[in-house]
Amino acid sequence: MARSRCIPSTAKRSSKGPYRRRVISEVKPAILSASATELEAWLSSRAVPAYRRKQVWGWLARGAASFDEMGDVPKPLRSELEREFRITSLRQVAVSEADRGLTTKTLYELDGGHSVESVVMRYSGRSTLCISSQAGCPIGCPFCATGKFPFGRNLKANEIVEQALDAVRVLGAEGRRLSHVVFMGMGEPMANYQAVVESVRRFSDPELLGISPRRIVVSTSGLIPRVTQLGEENLAVTLAISLHAARDELRDVLVPINRKYPVADLVAAAQGYADRTSRRVSYEWVLLAGVNDTERDAKELGRLLRGKLAHVNLIPFNPVEDTPYRAPERAAVRRFKELVEAQGLTVTVRDTRGRDADAACGQLHERVMRAGRAQGALQTSRTAVAAS
Ligand code: SAH
Ligand code: SF4
Repeated sequence: MARSRCIPSTAKRSSKGPYRRRVISEVKPAILSASATELEAWLSSRAVPAYRRKQVWGWLARGAASFDEMGDVPKPLRSELEREFRITSLRQVAVSEADRGLTTKTLYELDGGHSVESVVMRYSGRSTLCISSQAGCPIGCPFCATGKFPFGRNLKANEIVEQALDAVRVLGAEGRRLSHVVFMGMGEPMANYQAVVESVRRFSDPELLGISPRRIVVSTSGLIPRVTQLGEENLAVTLAISLHAARDELRDVLVPINRKYPVADLVAAAQGYADRTSRRVSYEWVLLAGVNDTERDAKELGRLLRGKLAHVNLIPFNPVEDTPYRAPERAAVRRFKELVEAQGLTVTVRDTRGRDADAACGQLHERVMRAGRAQGALQTSRTAVAAS
């Protein structure tokens, strides 16, 4: 896939160009839309032994960009796979880079025209992919770029996994391996539960990506019944709770799902997850200047989590246009961290990777949508453009 440094111009695209809306029924299914059993059945109906499925998955896991690359798969089978399936259902629309190339954010068009983004972050010794589980998000947190667009649709499990396969391809070309996956892109993973759980199983499947569940983070705004259900799946992924406020009155505003699932009940459900899986829960706290970074907030957070198997991640707000929020000063972040630590909690300040790559979830999507609207040409995510 071609990778460009900045958003490609939308002005030159014709209606026959690469972003022309496709009619789904004309499109071949993506290879990963078939389960292992379904693919083996398809192979068996052509008198091909089941182990070929493992070979094909092995190639996908190594980032193959075409069936033709699958050298140990017989040529006639490669041709038949090519006739019947697409290697991925995702089409790259835009890439932006930051941190001198250490962070790359990609916007993909999905079948049907919605778009989602994912971010690759390269560190020494590990590479993390931040993926999307929904096009848009139904929760509508007022500080979040994704929440500002109308909800599009749930992603299918294969669409979630394909984001990782594309990252594997990009990282592989740089001699890197994808080591961590975080569900912190667009969407609320627990509102697309089945597909997210299925994708986690595929990420951790040794026949596909073989990523340890400990290295997979599922972040949620707090759908309590799903948090409990996740604990019963025997997956032991790392759970992140987007807390942002410790009192209902404020959290009702910052994370509107709190009106249905109050914060004390959410923390109790997360502690249930920790008890069941022995996994420490991460609590995310986006720091918004003057809103949730006061001494009172730090004390309330301390009281709420004291004695829990918990870790606090502070995320300085990444500014989003048309929101009333501001990022706190560096000194305010340090002071808040110290106040929370003084309550006996462990705290990390998340590095603000990719600020100049429209880092916070939904921001590249937003920028491309704005550009598309200005130039009247981008045809992806029409609903978002029309309604925003
Ligand atoms: N919907 C899920 C996962 C995606 S959002 C959730 O909310 O947990 C991933 C994280 O990014 C959340 O903690 C969210 O609050 C945070 N986030 C959203 N917008 C942000 C912004 N502008 N600056 C910093 N963090 C942001
Ligand atoms: Fe949705 Fe998470 Fe953004 Fe809230 S922060 S709108 S839950 S993606």
